[in-house]
Amino acid sequence: MIDKIICEKCGAEMLPIDPNKPVGMTCPNCGWGWATTYIDPEQEDDTVYVVSLSEGNIATRAAIKAVSKIMSKNFIQAKRIIENSPVDIYTGNAVEVKDVLRLLESLSLAYSITPEFPYSQNQEGTDTENIRRDDSDN
Ligand SMILES: [Zn+2]
Repeated sequence: MIDKIICEKCGAEMLPIDPNKPVGMTCPNCGWGWATTYIDPEQEDDTVYVVSLSEGNIATRAAIKAVSKIMSKNFIQAKRIIENSPVDIYTGNAVEVKDVLRLLESLSLAYSITPEFPYSQNQEGTDTENIRRDDSDN
């Protein structure tokens, strides 16, 4: 059972910011509100993602080192893995996968993720930087 929360500014009934998540409350009348401790969406995401190294990556020293670190393999095994890609190199939750992607992207290694990973900055789709830039033009 949930008690109604009344706006301390105007007395209207407050509504959740997001009805699906406990992120905070807002007043539909005057806009007063607060956010509870911000939770990164990827921290709540319990999807298991599979990162796969794409075909055609070059087994540079840095790439081998990265794959060896990600997979806890030795240098020779990691080199073989890169040369035999596409191959699944990591399975984990969103937070873990993001670290792996950061490493892969820093080395310009091509990869794919199953299912589609919604948190990667370098992927096509919503580009918040561009949206912000458009706003500032007004
Ligand atoms: Zn209010």
